[in-house]
Amino acid sequence: MMEHPENDEKYIGLTVNSGVAQPPSVNPYLHRRPRRKPMPTVSELVEGILRGDITTLSRAVTLVESQNSDHQSVAQEVIEKCLPFSGNSRRIGITGVPGAGKSTSIDVFGLHVLRNGGKLAVLAIDPSSEITKGSILGDKTRMEKLAVHPDAFVRPSPSAGSLGGVARKTRETIVLCEAAGFNNIFVETVGVGQSETAVHSMVDFFLLIQLAGTGDELQGIKRGIMEMADGIIINKADGDNIDRARLAQAQFRSALHLFPPTPSGWTPEVLTYSGYYGLGIDEVWNMIDRYFDFVKANGYFERRRADQARYWMFETINETLRSHFFNNPTVKSHLAENEAAVLANRMTPFMAASSVLDSYYNNLAKNS
Ligand code: GDP
Repeated sequence: MMEHPENDEKYIGLTVNSGVAQPPSVNPYLHRRPRRKPMPTVSELVEGILRGDITTLSRAVTLVESQNSDHQSVAQEVIEKCLPFSGNSRRIGITGVPGAGKSTSIDVFGLHVLRNGGKLAVLAIDPSSEITKGSILGDKTRMEKLAVHPDAFVRPSPSAGSLGGVARKTRETIVLCEAAGFNNIFVETVGVGQSETAVHSMVDFFLLIQLAGTGDELQGIKRGIMEMADGIIINKADGDNIDRARLAQAQFRSALHLFPPTPSGWTPEVLTYSGYYGLGIDEVWNMIDRYFDFVKANGYFERRRADQARYWMFETINETLRSHFFNNPTVKSHLAENEAAVLANRMTPFMAASSVLDSYYNNLAKNS
């Protein structure tokens, strides 16, 4: 008897079929797509923006924010071509400490603006990323209603670079948004540092969101920020917080009396509202309407925009010179040496500075 009958050719008791063939692991009908879309040309971008196409606008803003020099040169050309179509908007800066209710309020104010037949872009300047490597404004799901509204364009803060650089990108993005037909621009910033000054230098109206606090709220904010405000609005005036909000309103009003008159001739107003419950929103917006009527009538609106354009020109020169200087390899090596000498008391800070500057100028002369 055979030990393994199944091996016998004549054996039919058990056969192994070859089975169903496996399909190929790669779909042969799927053509490989190029991984990235080719970069659109300047005229494609400009055309798309002027048509109000949000996807094109987003792509152009990405180029504005890019550090890549090719992207930058395309971006600059696009901005220049969009410039004649820009300017026709209300630019409103909104600031407040974290938790003041900026996102809740912007959502509500934004819907108010959109209900009245506008288009709204919400931009942000968040310098916190530079210091903390995180972002105060960007992490949460913010402005939920605006984020899905077809007439709203919500863009988080550009992240890379110095505050000056980040602010310049936002300033340039305003031009693109306006050319795309956005006639309301909100620029949000977090009220913790220098960023208010940057926002103030690119908006027509500066709104400060405050909270009623424990009585020391006036000490908590920097005087400079209050001086910049065209309107102060006290949020969370709801429930049993209403009385405290009114008290804070009175305190802010009397504090504002101590400030010198504003260059616009406008007297900043203090109002209470509740972003969460939607109370007092019309009043806040009426104030802003009145401000625009006032500054358009007295010529301040145009003057402020002209001053801002001049400011950005000089700011860009400063920023460019600074980065050229500090990125120069000769400067980098001299800087470290001279800094050590200053710290060891071997050199005065002024001598050290002038020696580093000399090395920079000599290096420029050699390379020219
Ligand atoms: P942001 O950090 O300034 O953007 O502040 P948020 O908009 O995220 O608001 C911070 C917290 O305050 C959230 O828990 C909101 O729900 C709450 N909040 C915002 N507005 C109001 C308001 O009008 N009334 C009350 N009671 N709470 C509010």
